[in-house]
Amino acid sequence: MKVVLDWDGTVTEVDSLHLVLLEFGDKSIYDEAENRLGPDLTLHEVIAFEFASVRTRLEEVVAWVRENVRVRAGFVEFARVHRPLIVSSGFHELIEPVLEREGVELEVVANRLDASPKGWRALFRSDEPCAVCGEPCKRADVAGLDEFAYVGDGFSDRCVALAATRVFARDGLADYLARRGVAFEPFTDFRDLAARM
Ligand SMILES: [Mg+2]
Ligand SMILES: [Zn+2]
Repeated sequence: MKVVLDWDGTVTEVDSLHLVLLEFGDKSIYDEAENRLGPDLTLHEVIAFEFASVRTRLEEVVAWVRENVRVRAGFVEFARVHRPLIVSSGFHELIEPVLEREGVELEVVANRLDASPKGWRALFRSDEPCAVCGEPCKRADVAGLDEFAYVGDGFSDRCVALAATRVFARDGLADYLARRGVAFEPFTDFRDLAARM
């Protein structure tokens, strides 16, 4: 069965978008945006709002990301065996350098960045609202798959996880699925996942 992985907080130990915003963006904008996610702002609106506060050169941020963003234990071995698809609400520009550092080549579905010195602009891969959740959503990224195992941790994984054959969840996604009474399996890292695939 195809394995589909979220990137931030799932492959990475800590959400790298949050880390970048805390290091290079405006902390107060970040706090405000996160509080308004869901009731008030869509995920795309939150991401656009947050990253507009980053004005650093992309090369500098990429170097920092390569230095500071860690992947969970066992990821490289897992990637070589299972060839997972990565679907992210983040950016190719911040994901691919980490994969390269780890010596792993995988298919990645993500957004793009226009790293303007006046404030970064998110270039989203789709603005098409999902028929189920009403927002652009990762369901569209897996539309070609009949069966898949989904591994995730957060807000952007909620809708797509409901479409998966098997769900591995932690943190906010696990809380969300538990509240809705949806079956999932908790996970800690990729050694743990590999043993259960
Ligand atoms: Mg995540
Ligand atoms: Zn959806």
